[in-house]
Amino acid sequence: MRYDIAIVGSGPAGLAAAINAKIRNKNIIVFGNDNISAKLVKAPSIDNYLGINSISGLNLKNKFKEHIDDMGIEITEKRVNNIYSMGEYFAIASGDDIYEATTVVLATGVEYGRMLKGEEEFLGKGVGYCATCDAMLYKNKDVAIIGHNHEAEEEANFLSEIAKSVTYIPTYKLESKLNDSINIIEDRPVEIKGDQLANKLVLKNSELDIDGIFIIKDSVSPKYMVPGLEVEGPHIKCDKDMNTNIEGLYVAGDCAGKPYQYLKSAGQGQIAVSSAISYLDKKRIKEKTLLNA
Ligand SMILES: Cc1cc2nc3c(=O)[nH]c(=O)nc-3n(C[C@H](O)[C@H](O)[C@H](O)COP(=O)(O)OP(=O)(O)OC[C@H]3O[C@@H](n4cnc5c(N)ncnc54)[C@H](O)[C@@H]3O)c2cc1C
Repeated sequence: MRYDIAIVGSGPAGLAAAINAKIRNKNIIVFGNDNISAKLVKAPSIDNYLGINSISGLNLKNKFKEHIDDMGIEITEKRVNNIYSMGEYFAIASGDDIYEATTVVLATGVEYGRMLKGEEEFLGKGVGYCATCDAMLYKNKDVAIIGHNHEAEEEANFLSEIAKSVTYIPTYKLESKLNDSINIIEDRPVEIKGDQLANKLVLKNSELDIDGIFIIKDSVSPKYMVPGLEVEGPHIKCDKDMNTNIEGLYVAGDCAGKPYQYLKSAGQGQIAVSSAISYLDKKRIKEKTLLNA
């Protein structure tokens, strides 16, 4: 199955892209989570959303959800780890699954927090962003997971069946149940240290000797998600039509740059999808012409 458009992110940018693509009868897949967007849900009161004066983030989220449900748009609750341009299409990797789409709209939002000291240095050298993808590398090893959201708990449970030990460090209020074998430490991660490979996680009040660290965040830097993608700091470089430097790959919302706002994000979702549809149309005409030649 090859989708016309894969939308990565279920916040205002991703969902605006999804409804516009659906209106244009495109075959889409939307990756994200059922909660729509943690940033949306957290907003106490929103006063700058045109047509709705003063609404809580939770209520606006419910309105978004009603809208997509009415249109029959489903969110595939999976985290995308990597996107590879294969020329004619994109291969989208999520855990062990690979999806195909002719175009992609990246609407992943942006991480407000800074990277941990040592995170970039040891990325791919004992530090990773997807425990389910890399679990086998840590068979019988000691691993730490810094969890920024509930999804990280699933990754920790999965890893605990393979690794020798898993230590879970939540950066949010932990409520759900982790497997009994998982050691939980409620402390602030400060730094990752190592030689060739990461081997120590420094917390505010203690240190852990480890063989690997997974950091499970709401969004991962696009630079690591899409090889060859041009970025500027935490943002993806794009033009006014939301084209990135990779043909067929578009961007919308916070990950395209400031200001960080709902309406701007939703507007860019719409532009990104219009650009994706123009690309699909041109591609179809080109293929037809080649067939008839
Ligand atoms: C507390 C707070 C209050 C705010 N108040 C306002 C306000 O009043 N007015 C205003 O205009 N703006 C406000 N903002 C800013 C607003 O929240 C953002 O600008 C907006 O949410 C950006 O939308 P987005 O779709 O680009 O990204 P997000 O809303 O961040 O959504 C991105 C989604 O993509 C998902 N995702 C990320 N990576 C992946 C992946 N690899 N695979 C699958 N899914 C992925 C994330 O889980 C998330 O669900 C506020 C922000 C905060 C934090």
